[in-house]
Amino acid sequence: DPRIQKISSAIRVIPDFPKPGIMFQDITTLLLDTKAFRDTIDLFVERYKDRDISVVAGIEARGFIFGPPIALAIGAKFVPMRKPNKLPGEVISEEYSLEYGTDKMEMHVGAVEAGERALIIDDLIATGGTLCAAIRLLERVGVHVVECACVIELPELKGRERLGDKPLFVLVNGA
Ligand code: 5GP
Repeated sequence: DPRIQKISSAIRVIPDFPKPGIMFQDITTLLLDTKAFRDTIDLFVERYKDRDISVVAGIEARGFIFGPPIALAIGAKFVPMRKPNKLPGEVISEEYSLEYGTDKMEMHVGAVEAGERALIIDDLIATGGTLCAAIRLLERVGVHVVECACVIELPELKGRERLGDKPLFVLVNGA
């Protein structure tokens, strides 16, 4: 698809952020390019519009940028998957491991119902730990996760393997 190359070029890579040795994939420059940003959303919408998806679950923080326009376009609701102690209502939470220590992801109780079909959206998959936590959270309440979708995959970190047989769709590879 000719749109992919433009999307890839619109993502800026910032070396040594947030710490030395990390090549940070910065999607804020993609958001400045109105054509590439629209194409990004369109590519996801084209893929998911006829898949009977009722929930788009977006992962804080950059899943909150890409998730809502996709949800509106495919007629699904948007559910934020947030960092701990941010959501005001009753939550269920799922712990996951980071390079150093652990983190938690939370979702409002009652946001989804058993039997619903969900798409999980984030900007980037690295080790896959974040997406795995989101899958567990949704599956615990009986939701079927149809697919995970990200703008960028860092293939060297093998996050795709960690997802097992859960399908993953990405637009571009980062280094
Ligand atoms: P994982 O859990 O797959 O190791 O890490 C993925 C999470 O870290 C995502 O929520 C993503 O937003 C964030 N992340 C890690 N590295 C980068 C990066 O280089 N660029 C951006 N935009 N996000 C990153």
